[in-house]
Amino acid sequence: MTRAFVALGGNLGDTRTILQQALDALGMLPGTRLVAQSRFYRTPPWGLHEQPAFLNAAAELDTVLGPHELLDALLRIERDAGRVRDGERWGPRTLDLDLLHMDGLALHDDRLTLPHPRIAERAFVLLPLAELAPDLELSGQGTVSDLLANADIAGCEPLPQ
Ligand code: ATP
Ligand code: CA
Ligand code: CA
Repeated sequence: MTRAFVALGGNLGDTRTILQQALDALGMLPGTRLVAQSRFYRTPPWGLHEQPAFLNAAAELDTVLGPHELLDALLRIERDAGRVRDGERWGPRTLDLDLLHMDGLALHDDRLTLPHPRIAERAFVLLPLAELAPDLELSGQGTVSDLLANADIAGCEPLPQ
């Protein structure tokens, strides 16, 4: 079993429902348990500003899947939610699932980089991740709570539950 953390986001369609369905789908993957899910956050768009606000969340999983198997599963869940990869990078999407971290794994190939390389600069990732794993160490960059202390969280708000 490996502990894994996944970031969820979206800004097209009924994102609250899409994110909850994605969390359910993660928990139903073979050999996988959804250990915890964060609250949902409304966050300003990142990278490409002229688009609707996002909802973001994070999930903690225990899984027997390997990193590339888990990535394939994430891409399939995105497709099932209607994700089309034809727009601009960082543009609007129904669902984005990024693999943030898997215990003990650092790797970089043409399909997968672990830990995800842009966690430190993204409040929309750090805020939900800090609910689940504030003390998680991101190889050489410090802990999630250290990174969050230096992040710009302006405009990020948890949704009422
Ligand atoms: P960003 O990576 O900056 O968050 P993005 O999520 O918008 O951008 P996508 O278009 O969703 O980028 O993904 C492009 C490719 O990134 C995926 O097809 C996948 O092969 C690759 N990738 C590399 N590392 C990861 C990772 N840790 N999690 C998810 N995808 C990854
Ligand atoms: Ca992403
Ligand atoms: Ca992605």
